Formats: sequence, structure tokens, C-alpha cells
Amino acid sequence: MEFRRGQRAGTTRISYRGYNFHRDSRYNGVIQRYVCAARTTAERCRVKLWRYGNNEPILDGRHYHNKPTINERAEVINELRRRAMTNNDAPNMIAEAVFRRFPIARAFDMTPEAARRHIY
Ligand SMILES: [Zn+2]
Repeated sequence: MEFRRGQRAGTTRISYRGYNFHRDSRYNGVIQRYVCAARTTAERCRVKLWRYGNNEPILDGRHYHNKPTINERAEVINELRRRAMTNNDAPNMIAEAVFRRFPIARAFDMTPEAARRHIY
């Protein structure tokens, strides 16, 4: 089951099958309700996720938008920072190494300049 909580403590964002959801705080009992994070964007996505206790979430609706890249982005940024902290390579070398390991970084247009900003 791909159902993971946001990495920061206290966050109400979860990721399910590549899409992100926010917890609907009005449902704070055994039944939990989540709404697609694209609900408040131009997509106005209406997809919901219902969860009863610790059971597998039930998807309610269909997304008509692409999966967000924010999760992959966070992974790439973490790796850029980790490498910058653990070796003395030049930023462009660090960025190249990370791009080789995460080819998707190019797909979402992370430029070497953007990568460098995360290193500093
Ligand atoms: Zn959606």
C-alpha cells in the first residue's frame, strides 16, 4: 500500500498512488476524509479519499490532471543537499551526479542553476 504521511511532524498531507491529499479536519474520528491537493488549484479536482481506521483507503472519483512532481522534487532536493554537505565537489558536479541518478529531475525542468540554489 502506498500511503505515506508527510515528512514534517504535524502535517496533514499524504500521498496516495502518486497524488497528494490534504486531510479534511472535519472528519477526525474513525472515518477519515482527504481531498486532492489539486482541489484548490486551477484543476479544481474533486477526488476524495476515504479511510476507515487503518484500512486501505478508498478512492472516490478520478483525477483529470497529471500526477504532481512535488514528491520527486523533494527527493531530488534532499539528495542535492545531502551531497553538498558530504563532499567538496563543485555545485555543477553535484548537480550532474544527482541528475544522473534522478533523470526525472530533467523532466520537470530543474535546471543546473536551480539545482545550485538548493546546494547553497
Ligand atoms: Zn486530483
